[in-house]
Amino acid sequence: MIRLALHGGAGDPAPGAANDQPEHRAALARIAAEGLAWLKQGRSAVDVVERVVELLEDCPLFNAGIGAVLNADGVPELDAAIMDGRSRAGGGVTGVSRSRSPVRLARAVMERSPHVLFAGLGAEALGRELGLPEVDPGYFIIEERVRQLEQARRTGSIVLDHDAAFGTVGAVARDARGHLAASTSTGGLTNKRPGRVGDTPILGAGTYADDRSAAVSCTGTGECFIRAAAGFQIHARITYAGQDLKSAAQAALDDVREQNGRGGLIAIDRDGNVVLPFNSHLMYRAWVEADGVVRVGLGPD
Ligand code: ASP
Repeated sequence: MIRLALHGGAGDPAPGAANDQPEHRAALARIAAEGLAWLKQGRSAVDVVERVVELLEDCPLFNAGIGAVLNADGVPELDAAIMDGRSRAGGGVTGVSRSRSPVRLARAVMERSPHVLFAGLGAEALGRELGLPEVDPGYFIIEERVRQLEQARRTGSIVLDHDAAFGTVGAVARDARGHLAASTSTGGLTNKRPGRVGDTPILGAGTYADDRSAAVSCTGTGECFIRAAAGFQIHARITYAGQDLKSAAQAALDDVREQNGRGGLIAIDRDGNVVLPFNSHLMYRAWVEADGVVRVGLGPD
């Protein structure tokens, strides 16, 4: 019973902005098809969510890896995490600017270090020691993000990717053996203060997976997802309160909203149910349920 869901961020596009972006749809469909093929080949959920997120990082349309948003100093500061539902092993990195794939670095933290979360220079040093590819920070920067930063500086705002409503990327999967995994990667918020950390790299907030309950990847106003412990909240509602995935995910998102948080999440539970709720206007997403068909969605349709 293989299942897959991925997202390319949630947001509220400026009035009049084009919502239906065929390029984004095509990228989501292509990457979901690749993830699905891996699952069909019998690859583990962890392998698949890492691969899917790495492909999304490499796609300049989304706010992760190449095309990540810039902080107030004009630098990409990237966050990522991955979690394996089999053992609840997890790894996260925050504030990295030189690791070519933050999600691969997060997986190295999970599997090749005794720790769970690494920051900045120490994270990059670990990646270097383990032979992971490094790049100059300019590698991640695209013109569109420089323009967005200039606009954010002019208005003094720290924003989700409003204009185009694409952002953070994430994936959740259930493999043929019934194991769950989740992974998320982001540039965070445009014009964020250097050193700011969002929900993405924090297990239990933006990323969580436990074979006993569900795998979750979130996107939106990170501070609110951290305060709601959104990922863990979904796990706890299923495990301790006996809720189904749909109610648990909606309740966690409502909790985020109570703090004026906007965004969405994708989740798959141990029985293979898939949910993709969001409270913003859009969430770029693709998913595969029992019929094995890749579906893509942007708006609430
Ligand atoms: N959640 C991310 C953060 O707060 C941003 C996003 O999802 O767009 O860093």
